[in-house]
Amino acid sequence: MATVLRPNIDHWQERVDLAAAFRWTARLDMHEGVANHYSVAVDDRHFLINPKNRHFSRVRASELVLCDALDEATMDRPDAPERTAWALHGALHRNKPDARCVLHVHSKYATVLACLEDSRLPPIDQNAMRFFDRMAIDTGFDGMGLDDEAERVSHAFGDKPILVMGNHGIMVTAPSVALAFDELYYLERACMVYVTALMTGQPLRIASDAVARKTMEQWLEQPDQAENHLAELKAILDAEDSDYAR
Ligand SMILES: [Zn+2]
Repeated sequence: MATVLRPNIDHWQERVDLAAAFRWTARLDMHEGVANHYSVAVDDRHFLINPKNRHFSRVRASELVLCDALDEATMDRPDAPERTAWALHGALHRNKPDARCVLHVHSKYATVLACLEDSRLPPIDQNAMRFFDRMAIDTGFDGMGLDDEAERVSHAFGDKPILVMGNHGIMVTAPSVALAFDELYYLERACMVYVTALMTGQPLRIASDAVARKTMEQWLEQPDQAENHLAELKAILDAEDSDYAR
């Protein structure tokens, strides 16, 4: 296994986990250009986020930018993150304290869901059932995620951990990087199956609410899975001598 350097930088574990999430998102082709953004809170007001204009496939742990969600001067810094990254994630970390890790992408299948007039994800397979009654749908898209729009989006979650951002993409929140990435991964897979099923033109076999809820609860009873998932991804990156953890 590759030797992972451990610079004397605060919040190193969060940095390494988030860098691995960026790398794997690129490998799954769920990224978009040098846009989209992931963040993780390190206390009640500070969070780490990707550096501006860095491709997901090249993000390194040591270069994640530490921001203060309450400090407007953040955008005056030479290392300021991308404008919508600061606005959307800053608003989330200010207004939704349980959102420790926030992942935002325009991945293909989740974004297709966000573009349908009805953006609900019906419980047609086991993966989709994981998200039963756990997603809010925002139908008020009003331009790029800046200022008022970012503030509005941060309140659109209600009590749900995941937001289908109508006409835009997806935003996932969770208590840890591992859990947030696992949620995002399975959501994209669920949306892929749903969109593909729609393309057949055949009627869908939709599970009952009771079965969907039971299956969702069974998913949530195995939080170790998310940790194991990310650990395996990091092991693959380490074996490839990736520099994500530097
Ligand atoms: Zn976006």
